[in-house]
Amino acid sequence: MYDAIVVGLGPAGSTAAYYLASAGLSVLAVDKARFPRYKSCGGCVSAKIARVLDFDISATVEHTVSGICFTYKHSRPVDIISDKPIGFNVMRDSFDHFLVKKAEAVGAQIIQGLRVSALSDDHARVTVRCDDGRGLEAAFLIGADGASGVVGRDYFGFNPKESAVSITSEIPCEPSTLKRLDNKVIAEFGSIPFGYGWIFPKKESLSIGVAADTARIGRDIKKYFNEFVSRHELLKDLEIRGRDGWMVPTHYTDSPHTVKGRVLLAGDTGHLVDPFLGEGIYYAALTGKAAAQAVISCVRRGTSDLSNYQAWIEKELYPEFKAAGKLSDLVYTHPRLWYNILEKEPDIMRRFYDVIRGDESLDSYYTWVHASIKGKPLGLLRRWIESRFLPT
Ligand SMILES: Cc1cc2nc3c(=O)[nH]c(=O)nc-3n(C[C@H](O)[C@H](O)[C@H](O)COP(=O)(O)OP(=O)(O)OC[C@H]3O[C@@H](n4cnc5c(N)ncnc54)[C@H](O)[C@@H]3O)c2cc1C
Repeated sequence: MYDAIVVGLGPAGSTAAYYLASAGLSVLAVDKARFPRYKSCGGCVSAKIARVLDFDISATVEHTVSGICFTYKHSRPVDIISDKPIGFNVMRDSFDHFLVKKAEAVGAQIIQGLRVSALSDDHARVTVRCDDGRGLEAAFLIGADGASGVVGRDYFGFNPKESAVSITSEIPCEPSTLKRLDNKVIAEFGSIPFGYGWIFPKKESLSIGVAADTARIGRDIKKYFNEFVSRHELLKDLEIRGRDGWMVPTHYTDSPHTVKGRVLLAGDTGHLVDPFLGEGIYYAALTGKAAAQAVISCVRRGTSDLSNYQAWIEKELYPEFKAAGKLSDLVYTHPRLWYNILEKEPDIMRRFYDVIRGDESLDSYYTWVHASIKGKPLGLLRRWIESRFLPT
């Protein structure tokens, strides 16, 4: 019997296993895949990850991002670059493998290639059933098996359809193309309804993709991906060999609780992804660490009451996701207006970089944006009129 079992070894599970084992708890972490494994992802990690992890991730960083080149309907590029990094581009196969090795190095027992198929909680312990017939027991379980995994969907009742949908592809490319993207990424607005497109440079490739609200775009996502690839100036001559689609389980307003008895959820499993950018890696690490701390505290106090974790999520994370939802409505419902504001007033974005770095909360940023708009109705009207001259 372990103190804790962690199901899934993406950034949420590995971070949880790392902090559990670092605190001296007996922890078993299992993943159905063998690492390094592919994960459909843009691989851009915001700089605030440094506030969560107590070790350096620079060995896995392929490109440091200090700003964004925005485009509207594939044209009107605007570079907004800052003097400090805002994010790091990684390849998820090596990044996730690096995190698994970190957890293993501090004493977590890792089993790769083992799929968990069911779990039960009899109030004294959690029992996990695996595909090979094995039964494993622990005092607590952290579910980190991703968006459509057994723990979140089957055991907690999260709805995988309440999410964003995304398609991505990794394209090998010449150093001259990568050079053009030195220290930045590209973000495309206006051509993908209720979403955006991206080009994230890595060491020898570009990660490209589009993401949008599932309910509003559905299967059309493929059409928008193809359009993005054929129309974007940087991508036109590149050969797209494969593409991969997956859901991005953004937070939804009536999400179920993330704690049930002795089981708690971290990362995508609990739909703990911001609904504005679809950023999930940072939140996976953040909630993996917080889930571990909740379990450590229970083991030390000799209780099984994990309600502090749910309270923390409601106090610290949901207001952030709520603000991200309001920003989404503002930007994706009025992309022409928003783009015009961005072109004329780039400081609005520079301040958002502070959010990406973790220097300001999303909630306080949204309050500032909202107050600025409300406080200058004539300025907003002017921007709206100007935006009518942007392509529809
Ligand atoms: C196309 C796309 C692009 C994205 N781009 C970005 C980006 O640029 N930046 C960003 O921050 N976020 C991005 N995201 C979101 C990000 O990928 C996720 O939020 C992040 O991977 C969540 O980590 P996690 O550990 O919760 O889950 P995952 O990384 O999904 O890990 C879950 C793990 O559980 C394992 N597993 C599943 N089922 C079982 C089972 N039954 N038994 C055992 N193991 C199991 C899987 O093998 C996997 O290793 C993107 C998502 C998509 C789909």
